[in-house]
Amino acid sequence: MSEKFDVIVIGAGPAGYHAAIRAAQLGMKVACIDAALGKDGKPALGGTCLRVGCIPSKALLDSSRQFWNLGHIFGEHGITTKDAAIDVGTMVGRKDKIVKQFTGGIASLFKANKITPYYGFAVLHPNKVVKVAQHEGGEIELTATNIIIAAGSDSIELPFAKFGEHIVDNVGALDFTAVPKRFGVIGAGVIGLELGSVWNRLGAEVTILEALPTFLAAADAEVGKVSAREFKKQKLDIRLGAKVSATEVKKDGVHVTYTDDKGEQTIVVDKLLVAVGRRAATKNLLAEGTGVKLDARGMIEVDAHCHTGVDGIWAVGDCVRGPMLAHKGFEEGIAVAELIAGLPGHVNFDTIPWVIYTEPEIAWVGKTEEQLKADGVPYKAGSFPFAAVGRAVAMAEPAGFVKVLAHAETDRILGMHLVGANVSELVHEGVLAMEFKGSAEDLARICHAHPSLSEAVHDAAMAVDKRAIHKAN
Ligand code: NAD
Repeated sequence: MSEKFDVIVIGAGPAGYHAAIRAAQLGMKVACIDAALGKDGKPALGGTCLRVGCIPSKALLDSSRQFWNLGHIFGEHGITTKDAAIDVGTMVGRKDKIVKQFTGGIASLFKANKITPYYGFAVLHPNKVVKVAQHEGGEIELTATNIIIAAGSDSIELPFAKFGEHIVDNVGALDFTAVPKRFGVIGAGVIGLELGSVWNRLGAEVTILEALPTFLAAADAEVGKVSAREFKKQKLDIRLGAKVSATEVKKDGVHVTYTDDKGEQTIVVDKLLVAVGRRAATKNLLAEGTGVKLDARGMIEVDAHCHTGVDGIWAVGDCVRGPMLAHKGFEEGIAVAELIAGLPGHVNFDTIPWVIYTEPEIAWVGKTEEQLKADGVPYKAGSFPFAAVGRAVAMAEPAGFVKVLAHAETDRILGMHLVGANVSELVHEGVLAMEFKGSAEDLARICHAHPSLSEAVHDAAMAVDKRAIHKAN
């Protein structure tokens, strides 16, 4: 006999736990299954984001930022310290405590919402049957009217750089026991830049090898240019057009061979992070005959409403098309739960913000200048540097800028691009304005507190019509 639910969610990561909680709020009987274990070997809900992604990396970014400030910014404020040191064990322990707090928080939320958790690996079978190989032993069979697959994603492993003690993915790079003297990274994407920054700030010599010839190719070109300049000042050695072909773990470190326009070269590092993207975690997830289709990259095929085309089966988050971002998964999870309840669930893919938590932070929403040019959309750009914002200079954080892109005829905001302190928060001015179909003039006429970093957004919006007050237009 299989236990029957209204909704079964496979995966308790950002997309899955949002779907489960929203479905429970809407009065449905919900089960949520997750196979992950925490560092202590016990089941841990929250997915990659909470266990080994967004939250732990931010904990380390914040710890390393404090240490970096001590050596690089405190002096400007007249503060001097002697013999500053970082205790990596304490830093990692703090990170682990935060992870435990938040993964435990999901378990409490499940309890409060009467969601039944199952711990083990779930396989979807035909006729909406889910079989779970439970960690506690034995297989259990569940069925539901609706099943939401939120299986997430795994790091891509390169055939010539197998993960082990010295070659790691994002999970390994969160748990070093000491600062590596030489830290290599393959891939100057989001993970490479964030974790490269953590260990660079703590004193590692960091070399990042990026296959593409352009830095941050997905971002607005000006964002790429300005942030590359800042990273160079921090001595992050980013080598573009560098195609890695081999690695070998030897006594003196990991030998990494790559080819760039100067020919074949080798670097030797103590630890190597491979951060070349992630792939949908759909291996062994679907039994024969479910009717759910995977695309060539192993992603579950869905329509605009996250429906798989098989009655009652939906998929959300990293295992379906779209950016692999926790907050995109949040929105899809909520939308699907609402659609199941007969409500108008919806995700606006045009206003999903991107944030890279480096120093300075990088964030954007909407179209880049390059995309608008390629699409033949007439636009106006207004930008404003943080170096002219009183609050930013008072904080000793003058790097970066805000750029607002608006339609040349309608003035509607089409994109906002930011580099600077706290832009992970400021980008939401752009998200909100775009959601409300706002114009650059709308933003320019909204009173912003002085002194605040948000004045850069205000002046950038004013600069769209060449009327920024604090710079020559
Ligand atoms: P990514 O796609 O952001 O970057 C991977 C980079 O590796 C790319 O620049 C690519 O050109 C490069 N690359 C690929 N193969 C290579 C090779 N053989 N040699 C050298 N370079 C190579 O992927 P990621 O950094 O691994 O992150 C994975 C996912 O996790 C992304 O989708 C990302 O959005 C998400 N994530 C987001 C955040 C955030 O929002 N702050 C943080 C971490 C991860």
